[in-house]
Amino acid sequence: MNVVKIAIIGAGFSGLGAAIKLRQEGIDDFVILDRGQNFGGTWRDNTYPGAACDVPSHLYSYSFAPNPTWSRSFSEQPEIHRYINNVAAKNDLESYTRWNTEVTGIVWNEADGQWVITTSAGEYRANFVIAGVGPLCEPKLPDLKGIDDFAGEIFHSARWNHDYNLEGKRVAVIGTGASAIQIIPELAKKVGRLDVYQRTAAWVLPRLDRPYSNTESWAFKNIPGFQTAARAGIYASRELVSFGLTHAPGVLAPAKVLGKQNIARGISDRKLRAAVTPKWKVGCKRILLSNTYYPALNQANVDLVTDPIKEVTTTGIVTADGVARDVDAIVVATGFHVTDSPAFEHIIGKDGSSLAQVWESTGINAYKGTTVHGFPNLFLMVGPATGLGHTSIIYMIESQLNYLVDYLKLQRKYDIARVEVRSDVQHDYNVGIQKNLKSSVWETGGCASWYKDVFGNITTLWPGFTFRYRHITRKFDLAAYDTSSAAATGARTSAAPVTSHPATETVTS
Ligand code: NAP
Repeated sequence: MNVVKIAIIGAGFSGLGAAIKLRQEGIDDFVILDRGQNFGGTWRDNTYPGAACDVPSHLYSYSFAPNPTWSRSFSEQPEIHRYINNVAAKNDLESYTRWNTEVTGIVWNEADGQWVITTSAGEYRANFVIAGVGPLCEPKLPDLKGIDDFAGEIFHSARWNHDYNLEGKRVAVIGTGASAIQIIPELAKKVGRLDVYQRTAAWVLPRLDRPYSNTESWAFKNIPGFQTAARAGIYASRELVSFGLTHAPGVLAPAKVLGKQNIARGISDRKLRAAVTPKWKVGCKRILLSNTYYPALNQANVDLVTDPIKEVTTTGIVTADGVARDVDAIVVATGFHVTDSPAFEHIIGKDGSSLAQVWESTGINAYKGTTVHGFPNLFLMVGPATGLGHTSIIYMIESQLNYLVDYLKLQRKYDIARVEVRSDVQHDYNVGIQKNLKSSVWETGGCASWYKDVFGNITTLWPGFTFRYRHITRKFDLAAYDTSSAAATGARTSAAPVTSHPATETVTS
């Protein structure tokens, strides 16, 4: 058994960022547990052809680890993966990390004031857990009749089989989301025939992607402030979109025009143009970016199939109209278990209920997207209502890291052993979140999306400007929490409440 002060689950952007902050705070008694073999999380796992980020890298990177050598405006997966591993190496984090360590249970032991963490490589105990498992870590397979019996090659976009040669083959792609629209143009170049199964058309806008010129690269490296200014410019332009998404979907009307122009530019056939034109408002689902998706659908070797899938047979896919299309391989690009992540079942709180069970009755929610009543000494990274569709999630992660660092300072100052958010505070905070979401395009835009949980509440997204989130996470508001000191550890209730701290906050954007 290994005992540490803090256990970080996951070595992606969240876990790595947390580890760096712990070291900066002089904390060395921690471990990072990850089922993989190197840093990167979703950017390690998603190696499909065409994988790239929709947020320019000068913003999609840590503010405390700028990289002046990004080769282009929107980096591709290998470059982002390299960046993450370089940052880890510079901060000397390898020795803190346990690879090939799959976490199977995280159980709070009230008597000991510890989390008991079971893994594929033994047990760990920690006073504090930072869960950086990420919302995009568990591939979601479609529940299609017969899919297990398909005799050809089949894999999920996040588990790409690079050993299988798709050259010249008959291939089906199920899904037309963010991953699929990057995969499809790459496959269209090399497969014999490609069937694209679209359930819902997405708005796809032009992607302003280009390599940086030598002059720009020189300036990023040598002109003080140039990279910071570029980052600030990208941030500001993306925040404007958030106003439209949350408060005034009408503001996004020009995006619809751009989307329609993108379709017209890429597709010549009128029927095909109509088939890929969404019937819901721009922004209701994630806005996608591509210059190559529509031209790929326009290729002679590519077919868009819009009839619903009836079943998968041993040799291919049959649609509701009775047409059977045989294929050699199926690429499943159907997304991730976001609101029903298996990780929620593994975390068991003070009452013996899992996070999944608690959220089944209350709906998915947390205080400031980070702490949950009943789950002491636990920080969720990219927790409920912190997700974004328009800008860099790293900005939200860094906001949470500020909150974490401030807590660690207070923890030391007041000798806190146990911290648990008050249920009334968590409740009021989430009433505010849901109120702010009412006028959002995610609510009013006329689409179904995984942004919503089983109660129909949008539980994944942050409503409003991200600087509001930065503001409410700048200080750890102890008044929102029940705490007990190290001396009182073991007491179930607040033994040593700490007073005279900032008042609790609700959200207004
Ligand atoms: P996704 O956005 O959830 O898209 C899944 C696609 O599969 C949708 O088109 C969905 O159709 C379809 N689908 C799901 N179940 C199906 C079924 N049973 N039958 C037929 N079609 C089905 O997943 P993703 O594309 O992997 O992207 C997930 C998230 O990853 C993104 O939102 C984004 O946050 C991130 N991501 C980002 C980038 C980037 O930065 N460029 C790239 C990839 C991923 P419906 O729309 O009808 O549900």
